[in-house]
Parts: sequence; C-alpha cells; structure tokens
Amino acid sequence: MTANAWQSLRTKKYQLSLQLFLFLNLFSAFVSLLSPLYTVYSSTLPVVTIAMGSGLLLLWHWRFPQKKINILFISLASGCLWAWYVGVKTLELHANNTSYVIIALLTILFIGTISFSNNIRAFTLNSVPVVVTCLVVSHGEQWFRMLYCFALPLVGVSIQHVIQKRNDKFAQQLMYQLIAERETLNDLSMLDPLTGLYNRRGLQHRLDEQLAQNTEDHYVMLLDIDHFKAYNDHYGHMMGDKALIRVSAAIRNAVRSRDIVARYGGEEFMVLLPHSDAQSAMRTAERIRQQVYDLKIPHMFNESVATNVTISIGIAPLVASNVNLALEKADRALYEAKHMGRNIILTSEQLQPA
Ligand code: GH3
Ligand code: MG
Ligand code: MG
Repeated sequence: MTANAWQSLRTKKYQLSLQLFLFLNLFSAFVSLLSPLYTVYSSTLPVVTIAMGSGLLLLWHWRFPQKKINILFISLASGCLWAWYVGVKTLELHANNTSYVIIALLTILFIGTISFSNNIRAFTLNSVPVVVTCLVVSHGEQWFRMLYCFALPLVGVSIQHVIQKRNDKFAQQLMYQLIAERETLNDLSMLDPLTGLYNRRGLQHRLDEQLAQNTEDHYVMLLDIDHFKAYNDHYGHMMGDKALIRVSAAIRNAVRSRDIVARYGGEEFMVLLPHSDAQSAMRTAERIRQQVYDLKIPHMFNESVATNVTISIGIAPLVASNVNLALEKADRALYEAKHMGRNIILTSEQLQPA
C-alpha cells in the first residue's frame, strides 16, 4: 500500500514533467507562428509539427493517463524539430542573425530547464541538437556565450538531479523502515506479551487463515490450570506469572508446529489442531497434560489433585467452521473435567447429551 503510493507519486511527477514540457512546446510553437521574430514565415513546417505533435500527445495523455510516453524520445524529437526550425530560419535571415540565434537558444533552454529541472538526460537530449545547430549556423560567432547559456542550466539541473536522487533514496529507506516496523507491530499485536503465545486477535487471524484453507478435520481444545487462584494467593502474582510462562512453553512443546496455541484468558489456553482426528487429538491432550504435570511446579494448594501444578482439558471437533459451537462444547467438557476432579481430559463426545 505504502510502496504503491510511493510508486504512483513518482509516476505522477514524471507525468507532470511531460505535460509541462508538451504544454510549453505547444505554447512556444504558437507564439513562433503567430508572432515570429523578424517576420520570416517560410520555415513553418517544423513549428507546425511541434504544435500538432505536442497538442495531440497532450490530448492522448489526458485521455489515456496510464499509457506511458517515453520522455527521452519526446525531448530528443522536440529538440531536433526546434533545431531544424532555428537552423532554417537563421539561414533565411540575411544579416545580424546572432541575436536571433541566442534568443531562440535561450527559449529552448528555458523550456528544457523548467520542464526537466532534475532530469539531466531529458534536458541534454532536448538542448544538444539546438545548441549544435546554433553554433553551426552562427559560424562560431558568440560560441562562448552560447556554450555558457547551455552550461549554466546544465549545472543547475545536475545539482537538482543529485539532490532529488538523495531525497528519493532517503524517502525510500524511510518507507521500507516504516513497512518493516508496521509488520513487526502487527506481529506483536497478535502475541500475548507474557507467554509469547497468540492472543485472541492472533488466534482469530490464524483461525481465519486455517478455515480459508480447509474447513474439515480440525479439533479445538480448551485448557485451564487447576486451582490457579489458590496458587496466586499463596505463592504470589510474580510466581503465578512464572508458572504461566512455563506451562505455556510446555503446551507449545507438546504440540506439532502446525498446531495453533493461544492464551485464551487469564490461565486458560486454546489449542487448534488442524487436520486431526479424535484419537490423535486425545493423544496430544494427554501429552500436554503429562508435560505440564512433569514440570513439577510445586502447588501445595491444588486441593486433592496433586502437589504440583496441573491442567484440565476439554476437547471438541470443529464442525462446519462453527468455532463458537466447538468452543462451547470444549468448554462444557472442560467444566465437566473440573467437576470430575481436575488433571483430567474429557472430549465433548464423552459428555452425556444435555
Ligand atoms: P479452577 O481449577 O476451577 O480453574 O480454579 P482456578 O482457581 O484456576 O480458577 P479461577 O478462574 O477462579 O481463577 C483463575 C485465576 O488465575 C485468577 C487469577 O488470580 C489468575 N490469573 C489470571 N491471569 C493471570 C495472570 O496473568 N497472572 C497471574 N499471576 N495470575 C493470573
Ligand atoms: Mg483455573
Ligand atoms: Mg479459568
């Protein structure tokens, strides 16, 4: 999105430069036709060509703004036509034509400088044919002044070109940095800062991705640490946080890399098992339960369950992309597992119909 905006800004600058060039050429051609210096009318063909060409190209460009016109080719063609015009006209003037040559040269250089203020190549291609023609037709008279008139804007355009390139580079770097930072922030906004697992937002994102690929054969699990309030009350909140971090890591380690683990609530987790079946979901749940148990985090207040931290799990199949229904079923199984004494796994199929 940002990269596209940047690219379209560059294209717009290019197009504006081209439009300005065509417009100035059209205008100057009209001035030359309507009010020519030294009233010599015979050499009108190149000016008429410039006027018609610029006018038609302008119309074409307004009609089809997406079609690209090669600015270098246009600047060279226009330079050659002006050179033809100035050359023929100077030869037709009888005496004292150097002042006309200089005025004509300055006009062309002016158009080029205004239109291609930071495009050296277009400026040079446009100016060189006219400069050379002027030098030739004036037989070297005032050659220094003519070259000076050309060199001055050339230096200006070159400096502008360098500045523009630096600005572009800086803006581009800034843009890439912004894109990278935005991606990092976006990733971070999907993670729970304490456990590093997905938060609800991240879970939703991954669920959408997963369901877009395949709607069948998924299982969901809800996991809840047993008697965690008592743990917090007796061991303190800091120890509670540490236990949460270790339990989260144990859950993550017990599942496949494609399984999605999220912190669903305070001490409650959700695992999505894509492309699974009832048996392997049960096996995974058992692995998680055992690994949390094996952490052997002391919990003397895990009433009648164990003397360390344990976890209860409810499992349900995810049918027809109905996540809410699957979670409801898993929650009922979890509730029942708690009721049956905790440190227990129960599937929604094992429940009595309500
Ligand atoms: P049960 O076995 O029925 O799940 O009992 P429980 O005590 O685990 O359940 P309850 O929902 O009553 O308590 C959950 C506790 O989890 C409450 C709160 O103290 C603790 N908890 C939730 N989030 C955090 C957290 O981010 N850090 C810490 N340290 N404790 C948390
Ligand atoms: Mg609990
Ligand atoms: Mg709970």
